[in-house]
Amino acid sequence: METIDYDALKKRGFLRQKQDGFFVLRLKMPHAVFKKEHLDGIVKITGDYGKGFVHTTTRQGIEIPFIRFADIDEVGKRVKSLGIEPGTSGPRMRTTTCCPGNNWCKSGLVDTFSIYDKIENKLGLRCGMDLPHKFKIAISGCPNGCTRPQVSEVGIHGQVDLASSEKRIGFTIYLGGCSGRTPRTGFKLDKIFTESEILSLIEKVVGFYKTRAKPKQRLALLIEEFGRDKFFKEVGYDSNL
Ligand code: SF4
Repeated sequence: METIDYDALKKRGFLRQKQDGFFVLRLKMPHAVFKKEHLDGIVKITGDYGKGFVHTTTRQGIEIPFIRFADIDEVGKRVKSLGIEPGTSGPRMRTTTCCPGNNWCKSGLVDTFSIYDKIENKLGLRCGMDLPHKFKIAISGCPNGCTRPQVSEVGIHGQVDLASSEKRIGFTIYLGGCSGRTPRTGFKLDKIFTESEILSLIEKVVGFYKTRAKPKQRLALLIEEFGRDKFFKEVGYDSNL
C-alpha cells in the first residue's frame, strides 16, 4: 500500500479532510486579490475535480474541498499554470493577511499591498516558510484593524503620529498575539514606527522566533518564557522610547 506523506502535501496546500480519501486544496494570492482568470480557473477545477463549490478562509484564501488523492498532481499543475499560490498549514508562516488600505478604503492611511510585497519579497518572509509553529502576520491600513492585528504574532496598522508637527503617518505594531484555544492580545509597542523601522523589527522578530522557539511554541509563549522586556531587547526595541 502506498505511504502518503501528508506533511509534504500540506506544504503544497493539500490538507486531509475528515472524509477518508479526500483533500481540501488551500489557495492564496498576494494582497488577497484573485483576478478574473484565477476565479474562472478555480470554478473549472472545482467543477472537474471537486463538488462544484469553494469555501473562503479566515485568512483571505479560497479552499477547494473534495479533491481525490489520485487527482492531486493534476490539480496542482492546473493551479500552478493559473499563477495561483498554495496556502499552507502546520508549523509554518501562514498567509500574511492585508486589508485594502489606502488602495481603495476611505479610511486607509497606508499602502498595505506595498508593505505585504516588502515583507514577502524584500524580507523573504513568505507563506510556507518552516518555523517552530504557526506564525501569522496581519496588516491593516488604519487603527480600525480589520485584519485583527492585535491577535496575530505580528500585527501592524497605519497610524497618524499626532505628536509630530506634520501629522506624519507611520505604523503601530503588536507582537505576540494569537487566537485559538488560548487567545492573547499582542503587546502594543509604544511608538509610531516608520516603514523601514517596522520592516527591520518584523525581520528581527521572525529571526528571533525561528532560532529561539521550541517546536510547537507560539511567539506569545516564547515572550512569556523570556520576559517581555528581555524579548524587546533581543529584537532591538527600546521600551523606554
Ligand atoms: S483596517 Fe482601515 S483601511 Fe483597512 S479595511 Fe479596515 S477601515 Fe479600511
